[in-house]
Amino acid sequence: MTVSQRNIIGFEFSTKSNEFFRTYFPEKDEYSNYHFAETTDEEIEAAFQKASNSFLRFRNSLGTERAELLLLIAKKIDENREDLVSIYQLESALPKDRANIELNRTIFQLKEFANLISTPNWNFCSEEEADNNRKPTPKPSLQKKLIPIGPIVVFGASNFPFAYSTIGGDTASALAAACPVIVKSHPYHAGTGDLIAQLVMNAIKELNFPDGIFSNLNSKGFELGQKLISNPFCKGVAFTGSQKGGLAIQKTINCRKDIIPFFAEMGSVNPIFIFESSLEDSSIVQKISSSISLNAGQFCTNPGLIFIVKSEKSELFKEELIAKLENVEPQIMLHPTIKTNFENGVLNLVRKNKTKVLLNNNSRNEKEVFPVIQEIQLADFVQDTDFQEEVFGMHTIIVECNDNSDFLEISQVLKGQLTISLFLNENDCFANKKLIDELQQKAGRIIFNGVPTGVEVSTSMQHGGPFPATTDARFTAVGSDAIYRFLRPITYQNLFERF
Ligand code: NAP
Repeated sequence: MTVSQRNIIGFEFSTKSNEFFRTYFPEKDEYSNYHFAETTDEEIEAAFQKASNSFLRFRNSLGTERAELLLLIAKKIDENREDLVSIYQLESALPKDRANIELNRTIFQLKEFANLISTPNWNFCSEEEADNNRKPTPKPSLQKKLIPIGPIVVFGASNFPFAYSTIGGDTASALAAACPVIVKSHPYHAGTGDLIAQLVMNAIKELNFPDGIFSNLNSKGFELGQKLISNPFCKGVAFTGSQKGGLAIQKTINCRKDIIPFFAEMGSVNPIFIFESSLEDSSIVQKISSSISLNAGQFCTNPGLIFIVKSEKSELFKEELIAKLENVEPQIMLHPTIKTNFENGVLNLVRKNKTKVLLNNNSRNEKEVFPVIQEIQLADFVQDTDFQEEVFGMHTIIVECNDNSDFLEISQVLKGQLTISLFLNENDCFANKKLIDELQQKAGRIIFNGVPTGVEVSTSMQHGGPFPATTDARFTAVGSDAIYRFLRPITYQNLFERF
């Protein structure tokens, strides 16, 4: 496959701007030779015109027809695996096995949505029969079902070029719901996005779906995204990225003339609570250190906070954790800007003079990064919510507590999280029902004796959580239920039987 370096607007390749940007190959430490044209206002309008026109036909397509489309996209991705994995690695510096795992997940997600929308009546909610004899007023017949909301703008995340980007869970679920999609491609992996977008476009053409149900627009700056979400034809936005980015987008959406749904999956620090009883298990250190360091810690589910009751065993736990992380191979981050943000995030916390740095072998000039572990007193932690901010990368703060009752105090100051993990035994669980009840108010997923990284893609998975982890904790971005973000209920009252 060849990187087109062009915007894809429905079935058209388009380059209208004279301004170009290049992606960066972090491992080679050089810019690519691909020159991606910025997107012009004219191209934005063309993409929305096509999306809006195509919605008329697309929304009336059968679930089974759209399932065929998703399966064809999955097939094309699999057939072009080698090219896709190769450019993914160049643009992200992520290892080959991770690229293949993520590509498999992307294919699996497409198949999951295809399965769902092939099921008869998948979008049917409920039905009540008329009762003309009801007194004092007759009861009308009622049928409730789900219909698509319209063109969706999707923002990809830097850390998942396949699974949370061009044809990741957001785009796949929106297309499954019969919503046209305009992707704001991520500038760190515009080449990967370009190849995927070509495959999506070809599949749409091959199956005679309307021109405009999918577009992929490139830009290196925020302006394009801001314009897309301000466009009156945009009927919903799915975002995966930082809290800063998500909040900026929410602000712009609030200034629109009409209110549209905005689903932002943002960063989280995914706290881990460790009970003394679980420190008997020697595997816990390995599990947590791997979770912190996997792929340079560049996961929204990376554990950024550990709460532990102070004891001899906790001292040993800290020593072992540091020893393990000290031996982690240095890693290259997704982009030099992400590395700088990581270093600045650590520095900002160090400058507060409230933490003790237990591990930091980083030097600002090196290309690679090492894990950073800080420690803070409970009283300092509860007073300053900055210690709950995500430092994207291999960064964790340990908070030592006096006893389990401190966990309850912490649960009350914790912000909303994607996940909260508890390492404990059954007796602890039973004795700490109040804590678990409090923690339920703070997270989308509670994990017992496990680490937060490694999100199962399935219907029972909840990948979301109270603000600031997301902007709408009622929905998930992972698993087949993600489709419900792009559907709305409608009731037909006294509908003719043959309709
Ligand atoms: P990011 O810097 O927030 O960028 C994400 C996207 O948002 C990019 O396309 C970016 O545009 C756009 N954006 C950011 N600020 C914007 C603004 N002010 N106006 C308009 N658009 C804006 O995040 P990232 O570095 O790509 O991804 C890493 C973050 O994503 C981490 O915080 C991680 O925890 C989070 N994440 C969350 C999940 C989840 O499911 N909750 C999953 C993966 C990652 P440009 O392309 O123009 O820069």
